[in-house]
Amino acid sequence: MTLNQVYNVDNINEVIEILGNFGKDAKIIAGGTDIVIALKNEKISPKVLIDITKIEDLKKIEDDGEYITLGAGVTFTNIVENHLFRGNLWGLYKACRMVGSPQIRNKGTIGGNIANGSAAADSIPPLIALGSIVRLVSIEGVREISLEDYYTDPIKENELITEIKFIKPKGNQVLTFAKLGLRKALAISRLTSASLVEFDSEGFINSIRVASGALGKYPMREYEVENYLIGKKIREETVEGAIETLQNSMDERLKGRSTLPYKRVAISGILRETLESAMTIGSEVAAW
Ligand SMILES: Cc1cc2nc3c(=O)[nH]c(=O)nc-3n(C[C@H](O)[C@H](O)[C@H](O)COP(=O)(O)OP(=O)(O)OC[C@H]3O[C@@H](n4cnc5c(N)ncnc54)[C@H](O)[C@@H]3O)c2cc1C
Repeated sequence: MTLNQVYNVDNINEVIEILGNFGKDAKIIAGGTDIVIALKNEKISPKVLIDITKIEDLKKIEDDGEYITLGAGVTFTNIVENHLFRGNLWGLYKACRMVGSPQIRNKGTIGGNIANGSAAADSIPPLIALGSIVRLVSIEGVREISLEDYYTDPIKENELITEIKFIKPKGNQVLTFAKLGLRKALAISRLTSASLVEFDSEGFINSIRVASGALGKYPMREYEVENYLIGKKIREETVEGAIETLQNSMDERLKGRSTLPYKRVAISGILRETLESAMTIGSEVAAW
């Protein structure tokens, strides 16, 4: 099948209409960093491409005091350059800062990172740790789903991701991220973890969400680690216990995989960095 047309659209309704008309024969192109490779390798062969890069509504970064909302067309660079993503949201800044190269960060979008569906997509573990909700729109209406659940009910061929939102962390919460890449500069990460930790006034963990990347078929919450850490302080023995808990979960999940021994070792450094930086940043930004 050959590509017949590229639609340059400037509003969301038009995208939905074209997706509705063409179904699986249409593909959205945002930054193009993933899809251009798929087109070149003939992994996909749509009849039409819908270029969404001119849609201003998809580029918003909004803070209404309670929620932070990111348009699907927000690039990694937009996040890196925005001072909202410092302090207790530093983990999202770090994840986006560690993506690929400057060129990839300038083009690649959050919506594309989600829609592409890679288990190793860097922005996803911090967004899952934040409890993010994804908004998808189609001719059938609006669908909102938590990013954590998105991977078991992913995007359909007539849907457009319009935004991702999460509750703004409080002063005693901190988001952290760590990544192990294959190569330093252009690595698609192979292992990541993120955590949103809430400390009480004495530095004990009140609540926590931990998410991992590339430890399964898709990025996911690490509930066993969370359950282990609740009510504890981040000390050497707690970090060791959390690593052991995660390794035990991995043994089940990745049983028989050739990558398991490597990932078991590598995850210890990644999870350690995620938790220890929560302690360090937490003591700088939180008010306990
Ligand atoms: C050299 C290189 C290095 C990279 N390094 C990293 C890295 O370190 N970490 C990382 O996470 N990723 C990395 N990537 C992958 C890529 O840059 C990201 O996945 C990026 O977020 C994709 O966004 P995009 O806007 O370019 O998507 P596109 O390529 O435009 O689209 C990707 C897919 O998403 C769909 N899509 C895009 N936007 C929407 C939307 N709003 N609604 C519905 N569907 C949509 C498209 O139809 C397509 O199927 C790398 C890629 C390259 C080529």
